[in-house]
Amino acid sequence: MARSWLDYRTEAWVQWCPGCGDFGILNSIHKALAELDIDPKRLVIVGGIGCSSRSVYYIRGSNVHTIHGRSIPVASGIKLANPELTVIVVGGDGDILGIGGGHFIALGRRNIDIAVLIFDNAVYGLTKGQAGPTLPVWVKTKALPYPNVQGNINPLLLAFASGYTFIARGYAYHVNQLKDIVKAAIQHKGSAVVDILQPCPTYNDYMTSEWYEKRIYYLKDEDPTWDPAIRSIDEYRVKAPRIVEKMLEFGDRIPLGIFYQDLTRETLEDRFEKLTPGYLSSPPAKRPISVDSKPLVHPFKLFKDKVLVT
Ligand code: SF4
Ligand code: MG
Repeated sequence: MARSWLDYRTEAWVQWCPGCGDFGILNSIHKALAELDIDPKRLVIVGGIGCSSRSVYYIRGSNVHTIHGRSIPVASGIKLANPELTVIVVGGDGDILGIGGGHFIALGRRNIDIAVLIFDNAVYGLTKGQAGPTLPVWVKTKALPYPNVQGNINPLLLAFASGYTFIARGYAYHVNQLKDIVKAAIQHKGSAVVDILQPCPTYNDYMTSEWYEKRIYYLKDEDPTWDPAIRSIDEYRVKAPRIVEKMLEFGDRIPLGIFYQDLTRETLEDRFEKLTPGYLSSPPAKRPISVDSKPLVHPFKLFKDKVLVT
């Protein structure tokens, strides 16, 4: 019998403030996992530190709560050790784009099959509302003594420049639309990122639900022919300028939906298979790694005669 979204809930008490956008995102993830009928035993959610990273306790899976900014390298290791697992990273804009910014870029370059869900509230909620990397300059929230003097990161453009092959934006309180975007991100083969606009009613009294709801619209509603898929270099050349134009739009109007999906690039897992045939059918997690405490394969030997050892 197919699983229901209730099967992905846990017994843990959800420790978020009333009205937090994280509730909508959590519900979207539960629903996406149910519609994809993902076995919780083969699901790994990896979180860093922050309100949103606590989602690892609220979703049934073999989950890991890591340290600040390091969810992506931990998730990368898990996925590369066992590519059969569904691996999802959850975290805030501060955790993923601030402290973990270098790791975020590296995942795009590698194109490992992992979905990164950024709960983007533009503040560090867990530590009482400091300016996050997506808070626009000169905005003064109630937790800041002065307006923000730093510029903000555009997560979509950063992902595009880094090489992510699936880039989307959703809104926390549009649970069903967000569920569809999260599903597509999980189904995509390669590094996927969903920037999820998430009101934090406790600390961000500027980017409120009213503020967002005056601005947001869906790319598909504006242009029913919108198709983010890239199947060839020629299609990329034609579509990229418009995609970048839409990624840049953030102000009076804020587009939502899937901006970009590159179907042409191989994943790091595919490259490992080319380098060491049999990697995908017999990945490291399924191999004995030592006998009598002696390693069976020295890592450098794996690459001998390939590219790393001359
Ligand atoms: Fe949500 Fe903000 Fe409360 Fe954290 S501080 S739980 S982000 S409302
Ligand atoms: Mg945040």
